[in-house]
Amino acid sequence: MLTCSRCKQQYPETEPRWRCQCGAYLLLESDRMFTRDALLHRPPTLWRYQEALGIERSEHVVSLGEGFTPLTADELFGQPVLLKLDQLNPTGSFKDRGSTVMISKLKEWGVPEIVEDSSGNAGASIAAYARRAGITARIFVPESTSAGKTAQIRMYGAELVKVPGSREDTTRAALAAASQTFYASHNWSPYFVAGLKTLAYEICEQQGWQAPDWVVTPVGGGSLVLGLYLGFADLVRAGLIPRAPRIAAVQAAACAPVYHAWRQRLDDVPAVAKQDTAAEGIAIARPVKGRSILEALYRSEGVALTVSEEEIWAATHALAEKGIFVEPTAAAAPAAVRHLKAKGLTDAGSRVAVVLTGIGLKATDKFLAHLGT
Ligand SMILES: [Zn+2]
Repeated sequence: MLTCSRCKQQYPETEPRWRCQCGAYLLLESDRMFTRDALLHRPPTLWRYQEALGIERSEHVVSLGEGFTPLTADELFGQPVLLKLDQLNPTGSFKDRGSTVMISKLKEWGVPEIVEDSSGNAGASIAAYARRAGITARIFVPESTSAGKTAQIRMYGAELVKVPGSREDTTRAALAAASQTFYASHNWSPYFVAGLKTLAYEICEQQGWQAPDWVVTPVGGGSLVLGLYLGFADLVRAGLIPRAPRIAAVQAAACAPVYHAWRQRLDDVPAVAKQDTAAEGIAIARPVKGRSILEALYRSEGVALTVSEEEIWAATHALAEKGIFVEPTAAAAPAAVRHLKAKGLTDAGSRVAVVLTGIGLKATDKFLAHLGT
């Protein structure tokens, strides 16, 4: 069942729909859940958790072998951490978790063509899975999107539409186009969020069903924070872990609407005026899922944190020294590990999982400008 996040109206999962009649976003609600025993003989992709993903029949699954990325023990700024290397997914970002589930549902529904708007990674991911499913995709991106991402979108055969102005102008252009076709938005689709729950499942399964104390993640539109929160809640409800970890959601100081709303204990996220940031993937002035992001932070006893541009770049270098190349957006989360420690929220005994969301090759132009070549 698809349930409205605001008015609680319910819709069957059998008809194409991306939002409630009242205009709010929908959530996938289901009692179905995998068991620990069932996982023992399944392949190492996120489809091992299929019962929880809302896709009933395997012939509709559109997969590139995504998920089950490494979770490696390491250390950042003197803090022991578990790095979730989600930049190693098939298109180079964690978005593949959402795309594989959303596109599988669109295939099940028989949707022939879609539009999507993205700061780049979701667009590239959806373009890849749509192509594999035989669905025609039109992807709207801000004009300033990194060249690596736009080249990727075009290579997958999607129509690329570059929109001048802000990220919000891009959404408006995509919505106008969506009146003629289906709006397959990663910021709206309940199936995209369902796919992101698998990050929570994996982090626990890969630790022998032990939940970490903290999960540190960048936040922009909020699907990742919401997916993690719902995923851990599923595991608690199924008795697989005793309690959910606290969530640390990280934004660039240059665009931090969630941080400001969280500090004021608001129940929704007002828009902010944003400045330029290297973390283009999370530069969203007013997230659609503001209410749910804040609820996830409050209920998980989580925190919102900001990091400066200097800290973001320093974190890209700190990871590169370990042989890990992530884009600046993905470096926001590891950069914030220092703040958690400085605030006394973590110590040497804390289990801290850090999600690395996108590979550095996505933003080659930004790195070349940063390196001065
Ligand atoms: Zn509604």
